Amino acid sequence: AKRSGKARYEMGDDSLAALAIRQIEIYDGLHRALERHELRLVYQPILDLSEDRVTGVEALLRWDHPERGVVGPAEFIDVAESRELIVPIGRWVLHEAVRQATLWFSEFGADAPRMWVNISDRQVGRHDLAGLVRGALDDTGLPVELLGLELTERQVVRTGHSVRSDLAAIRGLGVGLAIDDFGTGRTGIDYLRELPVSHLKIDRTFVSGLGQDRTNTALTDAIITLGRGLGLTVTAEGVETSDQLGRLRQAGCHRVQGYLLGRPQPPSAVAATFGAGFGA
Ligand code: C2E
Ligand code: CA
Ligand code: CA
Ligand code: CA
Repeated sequence: AKRSGKARYEMGDDSLAALAIRQIEIYDGLHRALERHELRLVYQPILDLSEDRVTGVEALLRWDHPERGVVGPAEFIDVAESRELIVPIGRWVLHEAVRQATLWFSEFGADAPRMWVNISDRQVGRHDLAGLVRGALDDTGLPVELLGLELTERQVVRTGHSVRSDLAAIRGLGVGLAIDDFGTGRTGIDYLRELPVSHLKIDRTFVSGLGQDRTNTALTDAIITLGRGLGLTVTAEGVETSDQLGRLRQAGCHRVQGYLLGRPQPPSAVAATFGAGFGA
């Protein structure tokens, strides 16, 4: 028993070491990815159900790795966040997304979508995110109503005063503020009283259980009712089937996002959806 215990330990040790090496590799590569222009953004359409048109897009980060091909954020965001690399990367993401939004605004005018950008809590508070956002808007002339930031519920909940005042300043500019992955924070929702939130995004895990199990269906309905009651715009993410879409519409959800309506795509492909109805 002792020997097998040792073997298990060594195996565990081995995979831990492999994991550490892999993280260092990711970190080193990511460190140079910005300079080498290996990062890019793809955009997923957000459909407004009452208008039946795309009124927003979410910017999602991709890394064109020279050897490994396209690497998704699930593989590198945690490493970037643990080492503060997320700060320069996040700055690049904001500038690139605002640049693209401005191009679309000049091309599509009233049909231009609002650009939603994912923000890490590491970027908020200490680094004057509000100043960065104001600068990006001033430099480009992008109307404030064409920009929104998404922060996950987990991140918002563990924030302190400086983060709250930074977020209040951002919201004060007129930029949208969405709570992402709503319902997954394992926490009270009293922060909704203190934070100047404008949008809620229902996490995909609730949406995927819609109509399949009672708990997820009831929770999704309750979140939509809560959001509407607070005067927030509610977006469901991860919508993959027309059955889910029908249920969300019936429950009063304002907006939907997911593979059913469009995958994250390069700029020119997503632009083809602007102004067009989905009949959804
Ligand atoms: P998220 O913000 O919750 O983004 C939604 C994720 O769900 C995206 O994964 C998207 O591609 C995926 N998705 C969209 N529709 C569907 C669907 O119908 N079915 C399924 N199965 N998945 C769907 P992605 O692009 O891999 O991004 C993962 C996470 O990485 C994001 O989750 C976000 O938390 C983070 N992330 C992405 N880009 C950035 C960024 O620029 N900055 C920061 N800080 N985080 C980012
Ligand atoms: Ca998001
Ligand atoms: Ca989300
Ligand atoms: Ca998520």
